[in-house]
Amino acid sequence: MRISDNTNLATDWGDFQDPGITQARANETLAQVATRVGVNLADLQSANPQITDPNKLTPGSEIRIPAPAADVSVAREETPAPVNATSRHVETSLEANAMRSLLSSSYPPNVSAPNSSTSGSGGIAQMPPVAMPLNEGYSEKEKQDLTDGLRKVYRAGEQLGISHNDIVSMLHTLAGNPPLTSKKMTESLRLFFMAKDLSPQDRKLVGDAFKASHGDPTQAVALTKLVANPKFVKASTQTKKEWLDKFEALTKRPELKNLGPEEKSVVIQALASDPPPSEDKISSTLDVLASAKNLSPVDQKLFVGGLNAAGGDPAYAANLKKLVEDPKFKSLKPAEKTAVLSQTKNYADADAVANFDRLLHKDWFRAESLDNKQRTLKTIGRLSTYPTGDRQIIYNTLDKLLGDKSPIKLEWKKYPDKSTFWGEMGDTVLYLNRQKIPKGNDKLPENDETNSLAIETVPHEVNHFVNHDKVASTFHYFESEYRAWYVEFKAEHNRVPTSQEAMDQRISWQLNPKSFYGKYAASALKNPQEAQKFYHFLESMTGMKVDAKNWKTVVKSDPATWPNKGQAAAPVPSGNVDNH
Ligand SMILES: [Zn+2]
Repeated sequence: MRISDNTNLATDWGDFQDPGITQARANETLAQVATRVGVNLADLQSANPQITDPNKLTPGSEIRIPAPAADVSVAREETPAPVNATSRHVETSLEANAMRSLLSSSYPPNVSAPNSSTSGSGGIAQMPPVAMPLNEGYSEKEKQDLTDGLRKVYRAGEQLGISHNDIVSMLHTLAGNPPLTSKKMTESLRLFFMAKDLSPQDRKLVGDAFKASHGDPTQAVALTKLVANPKFVKASTQTKKEWLDKFEALTKRPELKNLGPEEKSVVIQALASDPPPSEDKISSTLDVLASAKNLSPVDQKLFVGGLNAAGGDPAYAANLKKLVEDPKFKSLKPAEKTAVLSQTKNYADADAVANFDRLLHKDWFRAESLDNKQRTLKTIGRLSTYPTGDRQIIYNTLDKLLGDKSPIKLEWKKYPDKSTFWGEMGDTVLYLNRQKIPKGNDKLPENDETNSLAIETVPHEVNHFVNHDKVASTFHYFESEYRAWYVEFKAEHNRVPTSQEAMDQRISWQLNPKSFYGKYAASALKNPQEAQKFYHFLESMTGMKVDAKNWKTVVKSDPATWPNKGQAAAPVPSGNVDNH
């Protein structure tokens, strides 16, 4: 916390247990306030029911700070609520949401579109530029829906910068293959968008391939993968034509006839995602599908769903096959198999699947209850696929948890209700607060609580393990906690913290005598030799001269007044800072 912003704490740190008031800063979210004042986000939310949108606070508005849950059992430790992580993995440059909004921003069916003569470029034609597609056997309603859909696609295609000729070609294919579903609209636009920077001849090839697919959205998804592949982009027009022809021919192979739509989609995506398309790819994918034949119907569905979600990634397919053929998997109870395969689908990523397989070889995992197996699986899945973190720290952390020779055991511990403790490291046991992670086979919800546990607490505690940290009334222990925080910060944000972030989110809190860590720091500060190390640390953080007289003032001061303005990189702690 930055104490100068909190009148209650600024006057007397001894009042840490009392509720106080703070003011929202510009652009601050409630999660960031929680971090700043050192309380749990959920507690802060319930203390402030007037806040309707925790991501949009009015700067200067008053926020009531609840007392932190009083649980100071010595073996445990707490971490403050994390800074909100908002980054998300975006699969292509054209996100599904953007596409939906493009399509919905088109003229609603009941409103007649402006006449094309009234607008210049980018205007919308009264009718889509294709012949009226439907003949006998279709109701007026069906004809109207199709026309409206084509008009939307036309409008969205123009906004996406797809050339007029290509839009017309796409609309002809869509018009000839009703009904026009929203998936069809979205996927065909995505395909033509991905192709729009190719040469006119190459774009015509793509249009022809789309026509040959009869606008089938599954084929459009696969064609998009092929067209977006760098090997395809670089290939000559002749080679492109050969690949597209081959792709079309292979998708009509008799082996695919008997497959269900999901299985067929798996094979087609595999063919498209790693050009050139070849018979080998069909047979290896069929081979992967065959490895699911002994699974229950529910598990088969999850297996195929995962392959589809992985979009033809050959490494994922190979790892999934290896996992279900692993004797350790085969010996699981039916509900446990379903738990594992649910997460291979939720986290359809080659590394995540390899990590699930490593888990199956851990005795502690095999001994866990089903509920806790589910918690472990989704935590590992989230950590394995966290898109915006420091990959090296996350990889090393997973290796410490799952490596063959690693002695660490994970245990989901029941803490008192509303405990602010996330986890702790025993000699070799990593205890995690099981209330922070719901059981079940769904994906881990992506919020501050789950990030705090999976992305921060796990690397934090593993850092204590690799450094053999012990609680003590010394600067060294203070630095150990700072280091573990420094590592969790890097794990989550893929960068080092600034001095201001370190002070706000950790140091002022670690020095607060009422916090778990503060008691040890206060005791260490009574020893002049130890105290010198604290002052030196605060000097390297702020750029100010620090001594016994001013150190508390320095901790409470506004970073903007520091010589380094708080923007310099926070001091690098000694010891192992990447969990190797
Ligand atoms: Zn710690």
